[in-house]
Amino acid sequence: MSNPYLPTSYVEAITALLGPAETEAFLASYDAPRTYGLRFNTLKIPPSSPAAGKLAELFALRPVPWCGTGYYYEESTRPGKHPYHAAGLYYIQEPSAMSAVELLDPQPGQTVLDLAAAPGGKTTQIAAKMAGQGLLISNEIHPQRARILAENVERLGIRNAVVTQAAPPALSARFPLAFDRIMLDAPCSGEGMFRKDPDAISEWSPEAVELCASRQWDILQDAVAMLKPGGRLAYSTCTFNRRENEDTIARLLAEYPFLRLIAEKRIWPHREQGEGHYVALIERDHDEKAPAITPAVANRESADSGRRGGRERDRKRGARSGPSERSAAAAWDSFRAWAADELPAFTPPAGGTPLLFGEALYLLPASGGLALTPEHLTGLKVPRAGLHLGDVRKGRFEPAHALAMALSADEAAPRLWTLNAESPLVAAYLRGETLEVPASLRGWHLVTVACGDDQHPLGWGKASGGQLKNHLPKGLRH
Ligand code: SAM
Repeated sequence: MSNPYLPTSYVEAITALLGPAETEAFLASYDAPRTYGLRFNTLKIPPSSPAAGKLAELFALRPVPWCGTGYYYEESTRPGKHPYHAAGLYYIQEPSAMSAVELLDPQPGQTVLDLAAAPGGKTTQIAAKMAGQGLLISNEIHPQRARILAENVERLGIRNAVVTQAAPPALSARFPLAFDRIMLDAPCSGEGMFRKDPDAISEWSPEAVELCASRQWDILQDAVAMLKPGGRLAYSTCTFNRRENEDTIARLLAEYPFLRLIAEKRIWPHREQGEGHYVALIERDHDEKAPAITPAVANRESADSGRRGGRERDRKRGARSGPSERSAAAAWDSFRAWAADELPAFTPPAGGTPLLFGEALYLLPASGGLALTPEHLTGLKVPRAGLHLGDVRKGRFEPAHALAMALSADEAAPRLWTLNAESPLVAAYLRGETLEVPASLRGWHLVTVACGDDQHPLGWGKASGGQLKNHLPKGLRH
């Protein structure tokens, strides 16, 4: 018996796509349990490490065939609640959604855009493949979702991502022909979500499919405008209809003769273990003339409103004026002095541009290809302008949670305070409690959780008088 709440027009569309016999099997998949997946964060754990073995045992992992770092887990093991999740060792991701970045195959050193990125499944997968080298711009149009995206980028310890919150035209105006790889995981009618989220069924209609297709078409125009000659674009959805998938891609190829289809992949829930996904990989011809990339914004009006937006953001963050190079240089010096005292084994990253927004010091990643400058970001909402190193308050440097999560235990040694994953102290730390420590412990410490022989950061603590004051951000305590 298939799901009685499926709209008739949806079942008809699926029958037209698959034929009556296979539609039976497809509809029967609604009665099968949904699949659960997680993907290792190889920025923190290499796939064949003892830590990876430990996770495989803890969560009864089975490999996802199309993603070397992806695994199915047993729902009852609840990896999303485990301290290793807070430590960013993996990302919970629907298994078929892992297929798109595998096809895009971004490389270390490239300039990559994830255009519709929240909550961050594909961004964190791209970042793992880039291994900290090159520049990733992760964009999300909705403010609330952009904040969640920024949190996930931080939790996974990603150093080379800039999180923007912009509509696609605002980005294409700034970054024409700029990216080696673009991921567009488009907002869609979500037919592949019906088993996971039955509410999605009530939002579906043939009109919603048309609306999505027209929005996808608009976003694709901007994606093409930002793709370098020779660059690749992966377009994906979690829906089944042809209108939002093959038909949209056929229209794109017809409209832009310099694009060609490299591969197309569909995952169906009755054929493979996954909720369903569509991805098309497209390449732009090499031999087009690429004009130089300038940080200029598209037109006077957006430039003016951009500057207003920038000033407003600086005001809210406590700056008396916009980010100035001189104060950023002073803040960078105070970070380096702090690091020399508190993190003697840490070498501050070479390259990149220190940026100061109010009290907050960021390190804008270096990227050979794009040469990202602060002007590229003027007027954009930028929840995370690269790695947040810390805040300079009354001349004193205070390290950011993002820096804690991006450090390795080696870089923070000997300033480590390590807890066992099974210890109730881990939960106490994650709730925001102060921990008791030996009176000899003083200063900033990286609180870590042990996994096999490794230690992985959970956040900062500051020790004095036998107490470790908890510096986990309030919003992350639970
Ligand atoms: N790639 C994400 C991941 O792997 O976690 C999931 C992205 S979700 C399928 C699509 C995203 O597109 C949503 O976060 C949604 O807010 C965003 N979106 C909605 N309308 C948009 C628009 N007009 N332009 C760009 N993005 C949009």
